[in-house]
Amino acid sequence: MTTEIAVDVDSINKPYWDGLKQGQLFYQACQCGHHWLPPSRHCPACLNENVTWQQASGEATVVSWVVYHVAYNPEFKDRLPYNVAIVRLREGPQLITNIEGDTQRLAVGETVRLKVDLGLEQPLARFSI
Ligand SMILES: [Zn+2]
Repeated sequence: MTTEIAVDVDSINKPYWDGLKQGQLFYQACQCGHHWLPPSRHCPACLNENVTWQQASGEATVVSWVVYHVAYNPEFKDRLPYNVAIVRLREGPQLITNIEGDTQRLAVGETVRLKVDLGLEQPLARFSI
């Protein structure tokens, strides 16, 4: 069974989702120096609406994670056990994701690399260790 994630694509987050379809991860940036995800209409730090998009390098570090051994949503039961992690991009923004690979090595501060999952109707930004 393939689990499909429904996302609401709108004028604010469309560049993010379009980038993933090309295997690239984009985040928003402001002239005040703040970089962030998820996308928003204005800078969360200074409320400036003149925001730009920048491509992430794909390098990130693990901030935290949990491992699910119970499928609270039945659609995820075939993925058990799976992790849900927070990673911080080298450029600063943090995002919630999954980490694939030798997850026994997961540790705070561990370097992970972007691995866009293109096998879904809507690609997702996942990372590999
Ligand atoms: Zn700003």
